[in-house]
Amino acid sequence: MKTARIVSAALLAASAALANAASTCHGTVNRGSIEDSVQLPSEGANYTAYSGLAVAMGRNHVHSEVSAIMLDAYARLERAAPDAQYVYGETGNEYGGRFRPHRTHQNGLSVDYFVPVRDQDGHAARLPTPASQRFGYDIEFDKDARYGGYSIDFVAMAEHLYQLDLAARARGHGIALVIFDTAYLPRLLATPRGAALKKLKFMTGKPWVRHDEHYHVDFAVPCTR
Ligand SMILES: [Zn+2]
Repeated sequence: MKTARIVSAALLAASAALANAASTCHGTVNRGSIEDSVQLPSEGANYTAYSGLAVAMGRNHVHSEVSAIMLDAYARLERAAPDAQYVYGETGNEYGGRFRPHRTHQNGLSVDYFVPVRDQDGHAARLPTPASQRFGYDIEFDKDARYGGYSIDFVAMAEHLYQLDLAARARGHGIALVIFDTAYLPRLLATPRGAALKKLKFMTGKPWVRHDEHYHVDFAVPCTR
């Protein structure tokens, strides 16, 4: 009995520590900050960060709820899109705030994802995102959604957004906004998950940079002022 009491006390202490690890975000994605953010893993079974250097610089911090949503979605994708390979891009600084050259990404709720691609043989591949091409952000896809031997895998991308939305809603949150090149949207929405994605809010205006090689997601998680 005594042992059981000690174990449950230890479990309580552990869960209190976990509860303390929850992030607190302030303000908006355009003007905000975050306390107790978490740094994303640099890789998992079906995903990697865009750059080891950027990870070392701490540019992959997010709100703890965003981290949980992202990792849950990747786990779901291992079953839903077993051969797809995903690359996440810039998220934010440890304490949020101005995150050059981005205009948002200030409170731990914004995440960039590089498009999943197929190579010339049709195999799932990872878009190379070297520092020499501004970690992939300088890559330009053409009107046919091709870049070199790579083409955007709209099916894998749609599945990702679908699983992110499911994972967010499972935690009582949601997706506030998706930014992706409007010229490619019809192709995204023509995939098997397209109908389900139509309820997401896509930016319809012209963003300040072209979002062809990456898609930007703002998560809807409550912040204090
Ligand atoms: Zn972004």
